[in-house]
Amino acid sequence: MTPAEPFYGPDFTQLAGQDPEVAQVLLDEVARVRGGLQLIASENFASPAVLAALGSTLTNKYAEGYPGRRYYGGCEVVDRAERIALDRARKLFGADHANVQPHSGASANLAAYAALLQPGDTALAMDLQHGGHLTHGSKVNFSGRWFHVVPYGVRRDSELIDYDEVRDLALRHQPKMIICGATSYPRLIDHAAFRGIADEVGAWLLVDAAHTIGLMAGGAIPSAVPYADVVTFTTHKGLRGPRGGGVLCTEELASLIDRAVFPFTQGGPLMHAVAAKAVAFGEAMRPEFAAYAAAVAANAATLAEGLTAEGMRPVSGGTDTHLALIDLRGLGVSGADAERRCAAAGVTLNRNVIPYDPEPPTVTSGIRVGTPCVTTQGMGVPEMREVASIVVQAIAHPGAVASVIERVKGLTATHPAYPRVD
Ligand code: PLP
Repeated sequence: MTPAEPFYGPDFTQLAGQDPEVAQVLLDEVARVRGGLQLIASENFASPAVLAALGSTLTNKYAEGYPGRRYYGGCEVVDRAERIALDRARKLFGADHANVQPHSGASANLAAYAALLQPGDTALAMDLQHGGHLTHGSKVNFSGRWFHVVPYGVRRDSELIDYDEVRDLALRHQPKMIICGATSYPRLIDHAAFRGIADEVGAWLLVDAAHTIGLMAGGAIPSAVPYADVVTFTTHKGLRGPRGGGVLCTEELASLIDRAVFPFTQGGPLMHAVAAKAVAFGEAMRPEFAAYAAAVAANAATLAEGLTAEGMRPVSGGTDTHLALIDLRGLGVSGADAERRCAAAGVTLNRNVIPYDPEPPTVTSGIRVGTPCVTTQGMGVPEMREVASIVVQAIAHPGAVASVIERVKGLTATHPAYPRVD
């Protein structure tokens, strides 16, 4: 078995001796990401330092409660990890209050609903078909089952959020909470406009920045914090930290949010993940991260331009963020087929519904491409032109897959994910 590298976990040699079956899974996953291009917009490559914190003995500790106010003894050490994470989160995002315990973005959103609404209350959120997330009112999710969520969408002509429609719906339905933030919306969201509408109807404003928090942290796009009552986020997407979630809020809502996370929706926090979040926040405070965030956005713009030049149509005409949503109808290829053809060529991306998509979610007319991973690999504008050409070749000429695989290998050889260390 290959010698231990930090990317397999700090105690890989021990694992390999004890449980070669699982050790092989770890090896194969690193080999998988090294061997292809990862264009999933919600993924990234956490640093060896983040992985070290995740693989630590902090996983063992029960620490229900908050630093200095735990329901278990022996928390004085893990308290330090959470205090560092909280201090860094507040400083990084300029927020009054932070909670770093949510296990995921969905858990952070559950806590936000629990803090601000009662079951049956009305909220306004982006339609899933137009880029919203399951937690924004899907009937198969708690949000759609327990709350009355009215959807807003994008205009058919511009494919941009229709702020007039949002305002009309808010005036008509008088929601207690308005949610903005999305899973597959490539453009900047006008947080000031949402704030204005929320104020007009006396609603809370929740910004779900799961996708964009890394760009906000690095200053590549405007922060939502000055406008929102609550910002929820994930730590594993653009922020490049461990899998997990977090909440930022005003001082006024601090104790409501904290109580909604624990004890209302969660039990003991994952202290190894909290420590890893602290490491990620520390990394995001460095100037290199601002350069990274700017490069993620510049790369996405170049990738979208490259795909457009090769005959594809980016929804809304392009992107201001880390992702582009591509309408494939002009090529006569479904999103599902495109996803399969790209996978065969070593390019991992996901099919995605586009606004007003005639196809069901299992098929779709689009794909979503994102640049957080390839930018972590050090790729820039010239490589994005090559990636665009590779994606088009893979989708439009599946018969020529062998030559596309060679081109993917060329890129991953010069810009490896998790470069090997001695
Ligand atoms: N909110 C948005 C906008 C998302 O895109 C996602 C995940 O993709 C989530 C919430 C949920 O995050 P998680 O998968 O960590 O629960």
